[in-house]
Amino acid sequence: MAKKITSKDEDFSQWYQDIIREGKLADHSPVRGCMVIRPNGYALWENMQDALDQMFKDTGHENAYFPLFIPKSFLSKEAQHVEGFAKECAVVTHSRLQSSDDGVEVDPDSKLEEELIVRPTSETIIWDSYRNWIQSYRDLPILINQWANVVRWEMRTRLFLRTMEFLWQEGHTAHATKEEAVDETKQMLEVYRTFAEEYMAMPVVTGVKTESERFAGAVDTYCIETLLQDNKALQAGTSHFLGQNFAKAFDVKFQSSEGQHEYVWATSWGVSTRLIGGLIMTHSDDQGLVLPPKLAPNQVFIVPIWKSDEQKEQVLDYCHEIMDELKELNVRIKLDHRENMSPGWKFNEHEAAGIPLRLTIGPRDLENNNVELARRDTGNKEIVDREGIAQKVANLLETIQDKLFETAQQRIQDNTHSVDSYDEFKEVIENEGGFVYAHWDGTAETEEKIKDETKATIRCIPLEDGEEGECMVTGKPSEQKVLFARAY
Ligand code: AMP
Repeated sequence: MAKKITSKDEDFSQWYQDIIREGKLADHSPVRGCMVIRPNGYALWENMQDALDQMFKDTGHENAYFPLFIPKSFLSKEAQHVEGFAKECAVVTHSRLQSSDDGVEVDPDSKLEEELIVRPTSETIIWDSYRNWIQSYRDLPILINQWANVVRWEMRTRLFLRTMEFLWQEGHTAHATKEEAVDETKQMLEVYRTFAEEYMAMPVVTGVKTESERFAGAVDTYCIETLLQDNKALQAGTSHFLGQNFAKAFDVKFQSSEGQHEYVWATSWGVSTRLIGGLIMTHSDDQGLVLPPKLAPNQVFIVPIWKSDEQKEQVLDYCHEIMDELKELNVRIKLDHRENMSPGWKFNEHEAAGIPLRLTIGPRDLENNNVELARRDTGNKEIVDREGIAQKVANLLETIQDKLFETAQQRIQDNTHSVDSYDEFKEVIENEGGFVYAHWDGTAETEEKIKDETKATIRCIPLEDGEEGECMVTGKPSEQKVLFARAY
């Protein structure tokens, strides 16, 4: 099977599409901007969900579920929130169809009394519930997460990175004090950073968004930002400190231990199927998907090779023994004994699916008590002893996980620049791309001017302290350099 993957140097965008198709991750759907997530893509999402879900539970959160539909009036209760989401809402106006000459049409008699919004995010419907759940400080904190789909009527879409309907988790917490809510916001940012780096092997910068990039209704938006192989940045996750905005909009007060009535403090935080796009664009190569072992649905596949029936039985026995040993070490493994395909065809298919390790086992390996091991990330092959193979594979999976992170980190480091003049800035953004640190005077006008002139946006104000200086555009004082890039 000749693979049809465009080289990423030739056409990065086409390369990305090819990886998704050949890796059987997702298809475009008949509805523009929506996607069909195929089993390979969904298994990856499930592994991401499992790891994140455990991290949420370890930090004290519980899962719950709120409705898909939000009464239109709810959305308008928080002024900034409605302004931010108004232009990308799917609205349900009718409840019935009727037959017509062309097939079916909306039944005009079924017009809803109050139109419904398909949730673009769930702050409003959740805070409407929290009003009923919260009376006293004893009811706080509420630490809830929801796994769900949301709809945002996006105009420019790309599989996984930006779709109209996407899968995500949204955490929504309620607290008695500002300090507690800010701590929660930062804690969840740290959970995202850990997940991105330790599971996805995707290095990120953590920071705060500028006012213009802030979530609609938030006081502060914290984010993780990564740099992809085409040198464009991706916002990979957000954690919002919402202040008392939603508590005020939905009249959610609690009686403090001193007997006073106060508005509740809030956070929300989310990551989505966008992470899969980030994962692809971080590690994959011209042969297809490359997956970090911790998230790969299958970590190892075995291709058995035989010529006669007798060999078949012996080879398969040998494979099963090895599989049993690997399973004991919790290695996710698949034996590909399909008989209607050549080994080469299988190699290609699993390579495109990003499986980290391949074991090839034939009659000669049985004779010599060997196994052939091949790494997806480096392409390296080696013949190893049958003895101790399971431990060797388990160790190698850890090595691959670490190596992917180091390679990505090195790439990001090599493509991170720090500049002092606007001329230098424009030159780097135009010719090299990547992350660029530069001084900015803190105003929306300068931010907008830079965006208009260079298409680079402020990805974040990094959390780590930087040195004071002068804005590269206006010369006005700047507290620290901020992170710029062209972004998805
Ligand atoms: P937000 O609620 O806007 O802070 O977004 C929460 C998370 O969803 C962030 O991690 C975003 O990267 C992600 N996200 C936002 N819009 C989309 C979209 N159209 N498709 C996929 N992911 C998205």
